[in-house]
Amino acid sequence: MDLLKSTQTVIKEALEKLGYQDSMFELLKEPLRVLTVRIPVRMDNGEVKVFTGYRAQHNDAVGPTKGGIRFHPAVTEDEVKALSIWMSLKAGIVDLPYGGGKGGIICDPREMSFRELERLSRGYVRAISQLVGPTKDIPAPDVFTNSQIMAWMMDEYSAIREFDSPGFITGKPISLGGSHGRETATAKGVTICIREAAKRRSIDLKGARIVVQGFGNAGSYLSKFMHDAGAKVVGISDAYGALYDPNGLDIDYLLDRRDSFGTVTKLFTNTITNKELLELECDILVPAAIENQITGANAHDIKAKIVVEAANGPTTLEATKILTERGILLVPDVLASAGGVTVSYFEWVQNNQGYYWSEEEVEEKLEKVMVRSFENIYSLSQTRRVDMRLAAYMAGVRKMAEASRFRGWV
Ligand code: GLU
Repeated sequence: MDLLKSTQTVIKEALEKLGYQDSMFELLKEPLRVLTVRIPVRMDNGEVKVFTGYRAQHNDAVGPTKGGIRFHPAVTEDEVKALSIWMSLKAGIVDLPYGGGKGGIICDPREMSFRELERLSRGYVRAISQLVGPTKDIPAPDVFTNSQIMAWMMDEYSAIREFDSPGFITGKPISLGGSHGRETATAKGVTICIREAAKRRSIDLKGARIVVQGFGNAGSYLSKFMHDAGAKVVGISDAYGALYDPNGLDIDYLLDRRDSFGTVTKLFTNTITNKELLELECDILVPAAIENQITGANAHDIKAKIVVEAANGPTTLEATKILTERGILLVPDVLASAGGVTVSYFEWVQNNQGYYWSEEEVEEKLEKVMVRSFENIYSLSQTRRVDMRLAAYMAGVRKMAEASRFRGWV
């Protein structure tokens, strides 16, 4: 089943459990708006290449839409739509005054120069500028985009509007109004969820064996935080392969050697495959890469006791069912990865008020939000006897559905 369809399946189930009628599902099953753009970019060799990009806005009943932009060759319109719905759910779960949005450009930034990436980033902002803005739709980083790309986008938007607009985009460099703690926020949020889930399963994090799939923004910092907490990170991977050491990998060394796309395994010869990585003996498995990694084909072979989804959509619905039946605690993406958008919200608040917080303040606030959200969803899953994914969807759609009803949309 594809990402959009499976998301719709769970949204439907969540709305039914909350007692909403079919018309609410009709409203929430697709984004309110999706813009497709074609972006001509002058490449370094003088030729023009035309890229396709999207921006989806799922629901703005609660407030402006919010969510990242990914640069990836596998981006599709349906994927961007599903991702925008997940952003709405995340905002609902951690209780931010936003709806969900998402953007994507079909491209491979690993094969583009710095200047080509700048031209593409600016071209995308020109193409979507009518639809976005600090009180309309606020983008942020996602797969293969970073603070430099946010900086170009902010600069382009400010030039179009003819005033400084730091609140247009989050995940900016600190010197351009970025927030302390934003760079590591997704990983911090996941770390808090791992700690809370481990408590529920009486697993001591000191000495616990952790496997992390993906070594990008989330996976790399997360491995570091786990390592610093005394856990043993026994496996990590990137798009090209995986590393395994039952005694624990040297995370500081790997962090030092990774490139900006999270590639590190190319430096080693004794690698294993991503498939083998997912099936390693461990206590906690963290898929922190891309979609559809744990499926009906390998869910029976997962040996972890807890799976915490740092990526968006890494586990299919069929696999969610299998893992739950096997007694494995699955902490879903829309909860576990919500630390990023939470600190993005803090960044936007700081931009709007022009008053900036210390790293400690940001961390303290993030900790509170994540612990409260985890507790809400864990206890909802216990009292309603549903898995944590369905509980998270129930918590995630509630405010949006209520706001849509108050506005008279449904
Ligand atoms: N792209 C991130 C996500 O999927 C962050 C979005 C944001 O900060 O707005 O949650």
